[in-house]
Amino acid sequence: MKIICIGRNYAMHAKELNNPIPKEPVVFMKPDSAILQTEKPFFIPEFSNDVHHELEIVIKINKVGKHIKKKFAHKYYQELTVGLDFTARDLQSKLKEKGLPWEKAKAFDGSAPLGKFLPKSEFKNIQDIDFKLEKNGDLVQKGNTSEMLFAIDELIEQVSKYFTLKIGDLIFTGTPAGVGPIKIGDELTAYIGDTVLLQTKIR
Ligand code: ZN
Repeated sequence: MKIICIGRNYAMHAKELNNPIPKEPVVFMKPDSAILQTEKPFFIPEFSNDVHHELEIVIKINKVGKHIKKKFAHKYYQELTVGLDFTARDLQSKLKEKGLPWEKAKAFDGSAPLGKFLPKSEFKNIQDIDFKLEKNGDLVQKGNTSEMLFAIDELIEQVSKYFTLKIGDLIFTGTPAGVGPIKIGDELTAYIGDTVLLQTKIR
């Protein structure tokens, strides 16, 4: 399986990192070794002194597809959760400066903690879901999927022009504003609505 990640899908987050608002989705990938199962601790890698949390809604593909039209996209996922797109911001800045790919800063082992999946049928409107992240009990990020620049079905259309989507593939749909650094000893808790779906301790 593969993990497809969307960058700059919330205007306020693009702004906080001084990035332009994209005209089409910014796409990058992580390998399956990036997945960190729910409740497992995250170990800060030695190559970074500035790992940031990025809280994102994650959907799981349940049907093979290519060139999927937006109006059919809803048939290609039945479950969603929250995930963290851990980013070695110091390394990413260096790579960006040089015009190099982001993988070392974004796709390293454990950089994609995943929450418990919920059935899509639990939600009235997939583009109106509140989600939030607490660090040591304090609210650090909150968003609503209505704020996405590219809605989930639009992302599926765009992404499937380039990549065949397969069963089990994940799409990280971008982070709202409020990204920030983590340190050893922190505890992160991610919610959809008031339901805790993901908890991880930083080691
Ligand atoms: Zn992200």
